[in-house]
Amino acid sequence: MFEQEKNDLIKTGQALKENNLISLSGGNVSCRVDGDRFLVTPSGMAYEGMVPDDIVILDIDGNVLEGTKRPSVDSIALLHVYKNMSRVNAIIHTHQPYATAVGMVYDKIPPCVTTLANAVQGVVHVAPFSSAASLAMGEETVNHIGDANAVILKNHGVITVGATIKEALYAAVYMEDALKTLFIAQSMGTPQLMTDAQYQEAIEVFQDYGQKKE
Ligand SMILES: [Zn+2]
Repeated sequence: MFEQEKNDLIKTGQALKENNLISLSGGNVSCRVDGDRFLVTPSGMAYEGMVPDDIVILDIDGNVLEGTKRPSVDSIALLHVYKNMSRVNAIIHTHQPYATAVGMVYDKIPPCVTTLANAVQGVVHVAPFSSAASLAMGEETVNHIGDANAVILKNHGVITVGATIKEALYAAVYMEDALKTLFIAQSMGTPQLMTDAQYQEAIEVFQDYGQKKE
């Protein structure tokens, strides 16, 4: 069941690796299917060589409906986000280094480059620390993500969300690019930032970007 979606999760996990957002079996990818079922990548498995049968299907309470592997240890947090944010159909969790590093310095990411606005469609906040496998990780995400598609978990990593897996992937990859740029700028001096109006404009411009949606 949900073969296509399972393959999408695996391909997305591999894309995280290719874009240097995770190491080894780090992070996780999940999505909502049919409203109240959730596909989650397995705990502690590398994405290379992962097959659809390795993906676990959970109900909203975390009961395993299908699959023999243990689901991601962060499932309790992921389900809390799905439960409380109806706009979210996909979640990616990474420990991507640039975004995580920048989150150790800021509580709110400054409006630095258009790529950031494009990628996350809002202002990125840094949520207080929460550990892996905790409900708090989900609670802090819901409390701090706002309208954006991403939140940074201080001293931990990143959660990105989307209406689709592609949207969540896009947010993770381009946010890393953007915050790498901020990091480089800061290493040379004090960056000149965008105004809030310029940042807002970058969010809006992007809503019409790309191919026309049918
Ligand atoms: Zn983590």
